[in-house]
Amino acid sequence: MKIIGLLFFLYSISTFVFGQEISTRNNTGTIILDPAHGGKEPGAVFLHKIDGNDVFFFEKEIVLRVAYLVRDKLNEIYAYKNIILTREDDAFVSMESRTYKSIFDFSNDYITSLLISIHIDFSINQTLRGYNIFISDENSYNLANYIRQGFNKIFENDLPLIGIRQYDWYILRESNIPAILINIGYLSNIDDVLLLYSDEGLEKCAQALVNGIVAYFKSL
Ligand SMILES: [Zn+2]
Repeated sequence: MKIIGLLFFLYSISTFVFGQEISTRNNTGTIILDPAHGGKEPGAVFLHKIDGNDVFFFEKEIVLRVAYLVRDKLNEIYAYKNIILTREDDAFVSMESRTYKSIFDFSNDYITSLLISIHIDFSINQTLRGYNIFISDENSYNLANYIRQGFNKIFENDLPLIGIRQYDWYILRESNIPAILINIGYLSNIDDVLLLYSDEGLEKCAQALVNGIVAYFKSL
């Protein structure tokens, strides 16, 4: 009886763990990753002195590198979701085409889809650092909150949260799926820039986003 009890216990654990894994992998829907700006539109550009040399840093370059990492990680987790980048290289893409709503009918896939627009902030106050998240409607708050948890767990105090705020950015307003716009750090702050230009820092940003996305879909 004891052995049967133990076997049943192990069976229950395995169906719980793998059952959850399979249902996550079977999800349909679309994840749109929007590396902001691109081409003629560089986004924020900032000059820092690194080891005595003047170095220009470009928002459009960092956000693309983060988006590549997030896409690759998501492709390993979700076999059946469309994982889409709004741009694959240093190209200019119109705001209208970044929402993909003219291509996909999201009416049946609202729950299984989301959009994350990735930016880097800047400020004339060069001591300001950290990340902030924007949403344009209450439906997206849940997603923002899971992304926040993903960042807080990986970075602790290394990249502080400035806030989750409501703002009517075009891409958020026009996307008819849950959507957030995240500013990962400040290009004007040297600590944030060194973090974002290190392979380790980029990897952590990508993993924080992925962990937030996975936790969000699991919560639905
Ligand atoms: Zn931007």
